[in-house]
Amino acid sequence: MRRILKTLFWSVLAVAIGWYISTLPGRISIEAGPYTVETSDSVAVAAVLALFALLYIVLRLITLAVLVPRAGSLWRTGRQRRAGEQAVTRALVALAAGEKADARREAARARRLLGDTAQTLLLAAEAGRLAGRDDEAVAALQALAERKDSALLGLRGLLSNAIAKENWSEAAALARRAEAAHPGAAWLRQERAQLAVRAGDWAEALTLAGPAGPRAALSVGAAGQAALPDQAERLTRQALKADPGFVPAVLAHATQLRTRGREKKAQAVLADGWRRSPHPDISTLALAGVTDKTERLAAAKRLAAGAPGHPESHLLLARAALDAGQMAEARRHLDAAQADGLDQRRLWLLRAELEEEEHGDTEAGRMAQRDALRRAANADPDPEWRCESCHTTVPAWRPACPACLTPGSVVWRADSPREIAGTEVVA
Ligand SMILES: [Zn+2]
Repeated sequence: MRRILKTLFWSVLAVAIGWYISTLPGRISIEAGPYTVETSDSVAVAAVLALFALLYIVLRLITLAVLVPRAGSLWRTGRQRRAGEQAVTRALVALAAGEKADARREAARARRLLGDTAQTLLLAAEAGRLAGRDDEAVAALQALAERKDSALLGLRGLLSNAIAKENWSEAAALARRAEAAHPGAAWLRQERAQLAVRAGDWAEALTLAGPAGPRAALSVGAAGQAALPDQAERLTRQALKADPGFVPAVLAHATQLRTRGREKKAQAVLADGWRRSPHPDISTLALAGVTDKTERLAAAKRLAAGAPGHPESHLLLARAALDAGQMAEARRHLDAAQADGLDQRRLWLLRAELEEEEHGDTEAGRMAQRDALRRAANADPDPEWRCESCHTTVPAWRPACPACLTPGSVVWRADSPREIAGTEVVA
């Protein structure tokens, strides 16, 4: 309505001005060189208006000539985009339905129509993977990884691929690239931690372990790989601080101290370790170097004083007393351990040895020894290092289970309900 009024207004104004000019008396004369044009002013105004109208028409024609091909091109592009989007949808549906050939065909079509976008490349990778065309999937993922906006998508796919192929060095390199492209992603941290465990890179695994991770186990592992003694000592101390009763940490830290000539401090660490979690490896390390049998018994007594009455202390003292020829004392400790509920093979083997040492080659001695050996055959198994996750037994402690790769899962355990109390070294 406003537009009509506006047009009406300008038309009325133009007619009024035209009528006014036509009523004006006078003539207009234009001279150009030898030519002279003379006319009435009303005709001159009409001529100027006609010239403007002509100019307007020419300009409109020029504009149309430029815009029409562009409009055609826009229309074609729009149609191509719509077809591409349809191909994307069809490829997604085919992927969901597990139709390999359709997925590949539609993904290729989408890529042809829409070009190499993050979306079409990801579709091509997924379709290639589904169809078992690794070369296609990897090429699409590499193209994705090269793009700044989708690098993480490509790297994640390539990482999964490398892991599936058990190419650990490539996987670790890809994980580092992904971390650089997108720092702080939780899944990536977890992936890198797993790769570090798999590669046995305990320092890296320790860096990536969260506060709730098995830091003591990983610190001991990292200390074993440290290039400098100072670094190793710092790591073993760190492990002991994280879990003061952790036997591998006690052993590793005491070994570090001993190697550096700090024997007194090493013995203090071992004594504290025995007090917290008595373990045969602690006594072996503490008594190493003490060759005199009486002195060994005295040293064993000092160590066992930290956990008096513990079955492990009784076994240690029984062994040392037996070696020192103190048969009555050895028997007293074996009886105490047995009274405590210990019924493991090692106790009966020690008792068989004691019977042989004490009674010698007598009928009573042979009978007692036979009886002890029979009991040993039926006794509970001795404790051992075992993965508490998959129950694999390992001959020596490891920072992670070699079978299931769970870090911090190897614990000292007797495979029996009558397990020695307090010998579990990893909580
Ligand atoms: Zn395991």
